[in-house]
Amino acid sequence: MREHAKELLDHVCPPDYAERCDNEARPPREAYQALAGHGWFGLPIPPEYGGTGGSAIDLAILLEETGRHFEELAMWLFRTLTYGGYAVLQHGTPEQKQALLPKIARGELSFCFGLSEPESGSDAAALTTGAKAVDGGYVIDGQKVFTSGMDISDYCLLVTRTSTGAKKQQGITNFLVDTKLPGIEVRKIKTLGQRAIGTTQVFYSGVKVPASAVLGEVDRGWEAVDSYLWYERLCLSAARTGAASAAFDFALDYAKNRKQFGRPIGQFQAISHKLADMKVMLDVSRTLVYRFAWLLSQDQATRSDAAVLKLYTGETYKAVSDLGLQILGGYGYCMEYPMQRFFRDSRLAVIGGGTSEIQRNIIARGLGL
Ligand SMILES: Cc1cc2nc3c(=O)[nH]c(=O)nc-3n(C[C@H](O)[C@H](O)[C@H](O)COP(=O)(O)OP(=O)(O)OC[C@H]3O[C@@H](n4cnc5c(N)ncnc54)[C@H](O)[C@@H]3O)c2cc1C
Repeated sequence: MREHAKELLDHVCPPDYAERCDNEARPPREAYQALAGHGWFGLPIPPEYGGTGGSAIDLAILLEETGRHFEELAMWLFRTLTYGGYAVLQHGTPEQKQALLPKIARGELSFCFGLSEPESGSDAAALTTGAKAVDGGYVIDGQKVFTSGMDISDYCLLVTRTSTGAKKQQGITNFLVDTKLPGIEVRKIKTLGQRAIGTTQVFYSGVKVPASAVLGEVDRGWEAVDSYLWYERLCLSAARTGAASAAFDFALDYAKNRKQFGRPIGQFQAISHKLADMKVMLDVSRTLVYRFAWLLSQDQATRSDAAVLKLYTGETYKAVSDLGLQILGGYGYCMEYPMQRFFRDSRLAVIGGGTSEIQRNIIARGLGL
């Protein structure tokens, strides 16, 4: 499976294509469509909806390989498979499943996720974007920030407040919102990395959605969000481990070929030890990815396992890109070399989808602290 994915991605997403998409702030549409055309979107979708019913381990392999070629392509793929495929499969009505899953399996739809708000980031359950029940549906008002890919998606899995309960996690309802509805305004945010697709700010004013847009139970959506975030952590970690391996391979090759003082710089212990440390971190990251995928598939994963995975793989990607840039010296700092993109993109790995500080809080709570 890995070989098949690699063969296709080598062809449709070579390094210069990823560089061009990043430089020109252009989503990798051709590569996304090629993955769709070859049936990869159907991987985690059951056969009755047109997919191949692959396991969490299969999904991790696909995302690792895609991330190795271009992290933002893997991000786009994961968002559709998580906030479309996984969410609808877990919580959709039979009608939603019939209407959406076959299209997702064919790669005809894109999904994004609207959770973060200007006043609720790490404290995500404190969200205030409201959905008010009206005749025939709901009206949504509020503001989201960092909805990545909203401008290229068909649906946003939008997390809203429908009532106020005793706890902030109560009274939350998820909607599958058509991104082109009247009353939605999307503004691109300029970011350090993730430039091909990037992220957006989204304003919802009087957006009318039908009752059939609710995904899961009204007022009880937080538990579902939690389960999506576990799945997200597997996908993100696999994609970023792939991207970190690409940064490592580039640095290793450079260290073998760049000569100073009459020998390859990789023969200086200061450089070879960096590469040894990078290899160890990558081996551990990959082991954690496949351990978590296995735990998920056995229904044995814990919140703490998900946090360990997210924390370690995110910090590894950041450290590997940073060390890689140092190994390239002045060329690492130049825009013609890809290391700066890994360096910029990897910075998000310890912020987005729950910061490293929040992952440490979760792990500490799991230890009874
Ligand atoms: C490029 C990009 C893409 C993104 N994509 C999406 C997306 O598609 N959908 C979406 O919903 N969100 C998305 N996000 C949002 C992302 O998940 C949040 O940025 C992240 O959860 C942190 O929230 P915040 O930025 O508001 O920081 P804050 O929560 O304000 O945190 C600021 C700092 O305080 C620390 N901190 C906060 N609380 C604690 C605590 N209790 N203990 C210790 N430290 C703490 C944080 O770790 C951080 O260092 C994206 C963000 C970026 C930058």
